[in-house]
Amino acid sequence: MESHAFENRDIAVFGLGKSGLATARRLQEGHAHVRVWDDSESRRSEAKGMGLEVADLLNDNWPATEALVLSPGVPLTHPQPHPVVMRAKSAGARVIGDVEIFLTEKAAGRVIGITGTNGKSTTTALTAHLLRFAGREAVEGGNIGTPVMDLPQVGGDGAYVLELSSYQIDLTPSWRGDVAVLLNITPDHLDRHGDMAGYAAVKRRIFQNQGAADVAVINRDDPLCREIYCELRRANGPRVIPISTSELLIDGISVIDGLLRDQSNGDQPWTVDISSIASLKGRHNWQNAAAAVAVARSMGLTPDEIRAGLKAFGGLAHRMEPVGCRGNVSFVNDSKATNAEAAEKALTSFENIYWIVGGREKAGGIEALRPHFGRITHAFLIGEAEESFAATLEGEVACTRSHILQDAITGAAKMAETDGTEAVVLLSPAAASFDQFTSFETRGDAFREAVTRIIAEGS
Ligand code: ADP
Repeated sequence: MESHAFENRDIAVFGLGKSGLATARRLQEGHAHVRVWDDSESRRSEAKGMGLEVADLLNDNWPATEALVLSPGVPLTHPQPHPVVMRAKSAGARVIGDVEIFLTEKAAGRVIGITGTNGKSTTTALTAHLLRFAGREAVEGGNIGTPVMDLPQVGGDGAYVLELSSYQIDLTPSWRGDVAVLLNITPDHLDRHGDMAGYAAVKRRIFQNQGAADVAVINRDDPLCREIYCELRRANGPRVIPISTSELLIDGISVIDGLLRDQSNGDQPWTVDISSIASLKGRHNWQNAAAAVAVARSMGLTPDEIRAGLKAFGGLAHRMEPVGCRGNVSFVNDSKATNAEAAEKALTSFENIYWIVGGREKAGGIEALRPHFGRITHAFLIGEAEESFAATLEGEVACTRSHILQDAITGAAKMAETDGTEAVVLLSPAAASFDQFTSFETRGDAFREAVTRIIAEGS
């Protein structure tokens, strides 16, 4: 997507990750005068290699500049505005993100925005999958995968399915979704939003500027979302579709005990049993499925198209990803669970668990998981958190100190095999990966490769 919005005008781009670089290039292709900067020397030279003008936005003088495109990773307001934000403001430049530019450039197609503390990527991927499975044109991006400025253009009947973090919403003043989804709001990233009220206020903005022709999908189960739901219902705004995994809704979509029931059109409900879909295991995934189905329905998909699409969903890598089976043992990669809250979702989805856990510890460790220790047959500890996690598990769960992932996998596979009944070897580390890996993805990839070898040896 070439961007002509700033043709012959000055614009600055700060933060040269994937999305910053994509934006700078598209703007330059559209004949804007673009200056870019990043604190990292290697990113700056990558930009230079692409023919971009690197300028020290923190120290150089600012010529008249229309806008600063800020990477969502850079603080706009909390804990305090980054110095580049202050410079932009005093130079009279608007501070925006790539999604703002994308919206100005987009020629056709509907825009679906998905936000929430957890489940954004899964819901985004599932929504795009459902649309494509039904033969619709749909592309997904934003906070997941492809930056918005690198997305291919879709036609008038097509859809952009965008995963939006609260930072991205913060940087998109003219945001309006044809369909907007709010999954949940739980404490996270408060350092960047001040307090819960501030965080909720940003998430609330996923529904801003919506009119009667637009659709708002919102979870009714958590208290902050319910408040926003009530507000939306009172206002003369978008059509609201509530979702729930705890109560049967007569005007929305509920999933109770794995049975999804849709009565959002106010007529006869239709149902689909999603309890046995491996990629949608766990109540948290039922919430994601309810949201994606709400979007699909509002885009005109039929119940049969949705049923077929749900069953064919492969799931996302590193999120309770089934990797394979050998004999009585199945192997699951949940490397994305970098804290106890995320690991809890996996622990409550399985039984007879041979748990690979550890890495760089987060505040609170695994204490919050104590109620689920009964599901764990044996724990294999890795990484920096080894001793601390062993202390929490002591007396309740038998442990092996494996130190490294490879040894944990071999040990867990061997022990689970002799178990005799159905067992799961689960990598759900409840800790960051950075002590031994460069990212949760490389940790999960290492798990998948090792398991693939073990399965091949056994066959
Ligand atoms: P995000 O993109 O918001 O980080 P993901 O779809 O990547 O979310 O899921 C990340 C992790 O968050 C999952 O592995 C799971 O542990 C947890 N999770 C997923 N969906 C939900 C949900 N709806 N509610 C709570 N936790 C969830």
